[in-house]
Amino acid sequence: MLIRILIGAASALLLGSCQSGEAPAPRQAARMVAPVLTGADAIDVHSYAKPLEARVTHVALDLNVDFATKRVGGTATLDLQAKPGIDSITLDDKGLQIAGITNADGKPLPYKVGAVDPILGAPLTVQMGDAKRIIIRYTSAPDAGALQWLTPKQTAGKKSPYLLSQGQAIENRSWIPTQDSPGVRQTWEAKIRVPKALTAVMSAPKGAEPVTDGATRVFSYKMDKPVAPYLIAIAVGDLAFRELGPRTGVWTEPAMLDKAAAELADTEKMVVAAEKLFGPYQWGRYDMLVLPPSFPFGGMENPTLTFLTPTFIAGDKSLTSLIAHELAHSWSGNLATNATWADFWLNEGMTTYATTRIVEAVYGPKVAAQQVALGHDAMRAAITENGGPTGPDTRLHLDLKGRSPDDGLTDIAYEKGAAFLRTIEVAVGRERFDAWLKGWFSRHMFEPVTTSIFLADIRQHLIKGDAALETKLALDAWVNDPGIPANLAPADPQAFAEVDAAVTAFKTGTQPTTEAWQRWTTDEKLRFLTRLDKKQPTARLAALDQAFGLAKAGNNEVRFAFLTLAVAARYDPAVPALEQFLLVQGRRKFVRPLITALAADTTWGRPIAKRVYAKARPLYHPVTTRDLDKLDLIASPSAIL
Ligand SMILES: [Zn+2]
Repeated sequence: MLIRILIGAASALLLGSCQSGEAPAPRQAARMVAPVLTGADAIDVHSYAKPLEARVTHVALDLNVDFATKRVGGTATLDLQAKPGIDSITLDDKGLQIAGITNADGKPLPYKVGAVDPILGAPLTVQMGDAKRIIIRYTSAPDAGALQWLTPKQTAGKKSPYLLSQGQAIENRSWIPTQDSPGVRQTWEAKIRVPKALTAVMSAPKGAEPVTDGATRVFSYKMDKPVAPYLIAIAVGDLAFRELGPRTGVWTEPAMLDKAAAELADTEKMVVAAEKLFGPYQWGRYDMLVLPPSFPFGGMENPTLTFLTPTFIAGDKSLTSLIAHELAHSWSGNLATNATWADFWLNEGMTTYATTRIVEAVYGPKVAAQQVALGHDAMRAAITENGGPTGPDTRLHLDLKGRSPDDGLTDIAYEKGAAFLRTIEVAVGRERFDAWLKGWFSRHMFEPVTTSIFLADIRQHLIKGDAALETKLALDAWVNDPGIPANLAPADPQAFAEVDAAVTAFKTGTQPTTEAWQRWTTDEKLRFLTRLDKKQPTARLAALDQAFGLAKAGNNEVRFAFLTLAVAARYDPAVPALEQFLLVQGRRKFVRPLITALAADTTWGRPIAKRVYAKARPLYHPVTTRDLDKLDLIASPSAIL
C-alpha cells in the first residue's frame, strides 16, 4: 500500500519520483520521494523554498551538541532534485552561522543569505549547479527558536543539562538548513554527538547502536518515510526508558519514570483502538518522551516519539486524552499533513475529532459526549476571541500572509475543525463516515494535503454526486465562511446535565457536595468551573478552595480553571499557589492566559505579573516568552536568560 501510493502519486506530479541521485549509494536505492503539490493553495507563504524548481528530498545531519555554547553544529547533507535548467536552490535559514557549502566532492559552492524577516528568517540560496547533493557546514545560534537549553536546575533530576526541540510551526530552520515547509516532505537521518553521560533521542527509528567516542557518545537515527520537516525533533538529557507494551514505551528523566509509566499504562490500548478506527499504524514504534516542565505545549506529535508535557500527569490517568490526541496525529498530521499553515485545521481539527473517537473506544461514550460539549464551548469562545461570527480568522481555511503561523493556532482550527467533521459524521452516519475517514488516510498517506484536496476527496468518495447531501453538508460554508454554519451537529445537551444543574444551584448559593466533586470526571469538574460567572465573590472561591483543594489540585487542568477564576476575582489567598504554578511549569496553554489576565489588571494583577514573570521567564520556552515579552512586564527581557 505504501509503495503503491507513493509511486502512483509521485508519477503524476512534478518532482515527485523515486530518488535518482548522481551516483546513488545502495542505501538510497529504495528511498522514495513524496510529491510536492502544484495548486495555488499549496504555496507556502511561510517558506522561502521554491520546491517546484528545486527541492530537498533527504537530510542527513551530523551534529555535535554543545551545552556550553548552546549550539548544535556540524554538517547537513541535503539530497536535491531540480527541474532541468535550474542551478540554484533556496532553503530556509533562521540565524544559522554558515561556515561553508560544498558539493559531495568538497568543491565550494557559492551561496547567499538574503534579507532577514523577523517571522520567516532569511532565504539561503545555494548555486548548486548540477550537484544532486550539497553539504552545509554550520552551527545554530544560541537563541535558536526551536531549541531550548535547560540548566540542570530546570530539569526534574537537577544534575544534568537538557536540550529539547520544538519545530512546529517554522522553528526548525533555526537548527536545520533545509526547506522548512510542511509541503516539502523529506526523509532524514542523523548522527548526534552528546556528552557521554547523556542520551539523545529523536523522532525516528534508531539507526546504529550508540557508540562511545572519548568523552562523547554518538547516537544514530533514521527516518525512511518522508515527513514534513517540522516533525524532525531531538531531545538530549539524562534519560531512561521503560517498555509499556509490544510497540509502546516511555522515555523520561529517571526521577519521573515510575510516575510517567503508570500514567501512560493505557497507551497500547489506545494504539489498538486507533488502528481499528483509522487503519494500520505506519510508524513502527509509538514511544513517548515526558519532558521537563518548561515544554510549552501539551504534546507534540513527533513521529515514533511523542513529546509530552509532564503537566498531564495527574496521578489517576484523568488527563490521558492528551495521549489520544498525540497518537491520533500519527494519522492526521503525520501521514496526511497540512501542505501550508493556512490549512492547519486539517492537522488539528481532524486530530481533535479523532481524539474523541479514540477516547470513546477506550473510556466510553459518556466521556466522549462530554468532550464534544466542551469542544463546542471552546469553539464558541474562539469565535468571540477572533472577531466574532464575521471575523476572518474564524474561517477554517485561513489567510496568514505576512503573519506568523502561530496566529492560526486557535481553537478555530481544533474545535471548529472537529465540529465540522462530526457534523459530517452525524449527517451520513458513522459507518459511512468511518469508511471515508480510513480511506482518506490511506489515499493521502505520506502526502501533503490542502482544503481543496479535502473537499475534492470528500465529494468523490463520500458525497458521490448526491446533490441533497451536498446541500445538507454545506462544505464550502464550513471551510470558507467565518462563524458557525447553521447545520452544526449539536452536542448532547444532557452530556453535563448533573453538572449544569450544579452550576445553577451554585448561583443561588449551594456548593456541590464533596461526594459529587470526587465522583466527577475531569471534564465534569472543568465544565463546572468554566461555567461559573467570572467575577465570583472571594468568599465563594474560598469555600470552593477549602472544600476541594482547587488552588493546589494535582490535576493541572482543574487547577488552571480555578486559578483563572481566582485572577478574575482578585482572590488574594490563591496568589502563592498561582505563583508556584507559574514557576513549576511553562506550558503555554496555562501560563499565557494567566499572565496576560494578571497584566491586564493594572492595579491588582500587574504587579504580581511583573514579579512572577521576572522569576519565571528563564524556565519558559522561547515560543512562550515571545508572546509574554510583548506585555512589557520586564524592562529588557532578553537580559534575563
Ligand atoms: Zn494537535
